[in-house]
Amino acid sequence: MTAESFLTLSTELRHLPIVGPGRAKRLAKLGLRTARDVLFLFPKDYESPAPPQRIDQLRDGEPASLVGHITDAELVSRSPGKSVFGILVENESGALRSTFFNQPFRAETLRLGQRVLISGTPKLVGLRFEFVHPKVTLLGDDERLPEEPILPVYSLTDGIKQIDMRRLSRECVTSLSQELAEAMPESLRRQAAEELRGAGIAIEGDLPGIATTIEMLHYPTNEPAMIAARTRLIFQELVVMQLALAMRRRQLTSDLLAPPLPTTPLIDARIINRFPFTLTDDQRRVMNEVAKDMARQFPMNRMLQGDVGSGKTVVALYAMLLAIANGHQAVLMAPTEVLARQHFNTISKMLVESRVRTGILCGSLGTTERRETKANVASGEIDLLVGTQALVYGEIEFKKLGLCVIDEQHKFGVSQRVALRKGGIAPHSLVMSATPIPRSLAMTLFGDVDLSTLREKPPGRGRVHTYLAHDGWKDRWWHFVEQQLAQGRQAYVVAPRISAEESNETEASEDVSSVEDVYRYLQQDTFPNRKVGLLHGRLSQDDKAAVMRAFANGSIEVLVSTTVIEVGIDVPNATVLTILGAQRFGLAQLHQLRGRVSRGTHAAHVCVFTDGEQSPEEFERLKVLEQTDDGFELAEADFRLRGPGELIGRKQSGMPPLLIADLHRDQDILQVARSIAQAKLDDDPSLADSEWSELRTQVIRRYGKELSLGDVA
Ligand code: ADP
Ligand code: MG
Repeated sequence: MTAESFLTLSTELRHLPIVGPGRAKRLAKLGLRTARDVLFLFPKDYESPAPPQRIDQLRDGEPASLVGHITDAELVSRSPGKSVFGILVENESGALRSTFFNQPFRAETLRLGQRVLISGTPKLVGLRFEFVHPKVTLLGDDERLPEEPILPVYSLTDGIKQIDMRRLSRECVTSLSQELAEAMPESLRRQAAEELRGAGIAIEGDLPGIATTIEMLHYPTNEPAMIAARTRLIFQELVVMQLALAMRRRQLTSDLLAPPLPTTPLIDARIINRFPFTLTDDQRRVMNEVAKDMARQFPMNRMLQGDVGSGKTVVALYAMLLAIANGHQAVLMAPTEVLARQHFNTISKMLVESRVRTGILCGSLGTTERRETKANVASGEIDLLVGTQALVYGEIEFKKLGLCVIDEQHKFGVSQRVALRKGGIAPHSLVMSATPIPRSLAMTLFGDVDLSTLREKPPGRGRVHTYLAHDGWKDRWWHFVEQQLAQGRQAYVVAPRISAEESNETEASEDVSSVEDVYRYLQQDTFPNRKVGLLHGRLSQDDKAAVMRAFANGSIEVLVSTTVIEVGIDVPNATVLTILGAQRFGLAQLHQLRGRVSRGTHAAHVCVFTDGEQSPEEFERLKVLEQTDDGFELAEADFRLRGPGELIGRKQSGMPPLLIADLHRDQDILQVARSIAQAKLDDDPSLADSEWSELRTQVIRRYGKELSLGDVA
């Protein structure tokens, strides 16, 4: 019996004769312990020998191959056991010498007149190229060139050469690919291939079975076969993820009922007439999506995404009035008291002379007032409650809650819980987010939430001009700011840190922008005749509030600040924004900052400076800001340039990392995987289909814990 006949998927590599214990240790560094691991170590690249070249086009050090006849061959013995064998290969493009040291046996096959294919790396010797120990294939005079295999290129570690890895993978793939369990039934492979083609992905035939997939990934016979194999594995990884998310979402909502809150043309018209402006098409579309969800007897679980200023509040108000028209209560929760009050004022204005009874619940209310509001909510005398999340999630009791709206949800995560349920009845829930997230990422993070998006901005907004500038422009820019101040506008200046000492970078911190330094020189040197203010997170609550008030009433004209202005401040007269040290901020964050000056009807001007040396990549990244004003495009760009980890920490997303799929690159495959996963679960909610049992196992192994898919497992 040979050693190979013992080879199974779980054989440890150290038991393989071609590996041995020494190499096994090194392979373990690559995460390879068993033969199975080798099958799933995918090449990082492929290498196919270049087609034969012309001799006059060879380049020093670049691998090449060529075909020709041997026109000279000479074996020289230097001393016993030391020899040099040289041949000259000639074709119509020239002649090339090859040398073999201590291989006298070569002389027996490489004879004058023999046609050969030789491959090697040409070296310039004097004025001529030469091969040393090239690979030589003998060819008959009319013989066609052999089809050269495409070879895998693996990541390596110390002491393991490419040739070792290839030998190992060849052995494992040949003996074991047939042993792998098939996770994707044939019907699924056919359906997926059809839908992928429909989505514009070029693959031939059905997605390959697992054995072919593994074979074609390591040793592809041609490129389409390799692409089909990759696509299958990417699809499989994504469909497993989407099945997990869809199961999770069913689990969250399946046992819950919600009051159906249908709309009628009359209700719709009455609500719309309350709004002091014409709705954008986007707002209408999203209201319809929301109304459709709320008419059902299952809780709506929807997220509304839209840039700052895209008009999410009226959509929320529409939904709340729909609930109230159906005899239910609605609550709107904001993360801070400032935002809660802002909402309450807006809503109260739109509801003057309506019969809707509103109330507010926040920290600064006196105890009596709070108690009274709570009692009115419990008795049903308040229809629409606005409050801070902290308070509303407390022990408040609703008489008949139909809808819960959560504003400015910045926390990401799949565990969006259906809150405020009462017995088996849950309110409908709408979450609003001003942080645009690329669609493919949203489908992952919020796979258990339906998504609505507002992209169109309400009309009548002033334009925002954005400039990406270098240090040399500062004087000109400050001059421009002064002109704007003279016209009665106000300005923000944002810098990354509070004080210079705060920097723990050891390199020169001279030019690192700190608000304290910037404040000093702007007040003393740049705008001596203007009132400059300073705002940062280390000020006391009272000082902060005083500065904000002074800026809001115009007595502070230039506000130097850290990013604390990202949320909360709304001063329509502030139309000029300077950002210093911009390389320290993500695009999404810079865009949020820009939102501060796009509130009014005046055109706004934003100038973005970086400090220190600017790399071309950095410049390209920031350039996107200049090019687009659309938060979603920016989010896509950030995603493309910096990857998902930068947008949202993995911890926050709570999802295990993907191994071969790439959410950005593979968006189209993701779409298909998502729709197939959903359709399957519509038919077969617990994935009982025995053909899918292997996929089901993978879902649970991979995501069971993260998504607490308890009862499914
Ligand atoms: P956000 O999405 O940031 O919460 P808001 O709902 O606060 O945006 O809306 C921003 C501003 O735009 C508000 O002053 C609001 O009254 C106004 N607005 C909303 N929709 C429209 C519209 N269709 N036409 C004109 N103005 C609108
Ligand atoms: Mg808002």
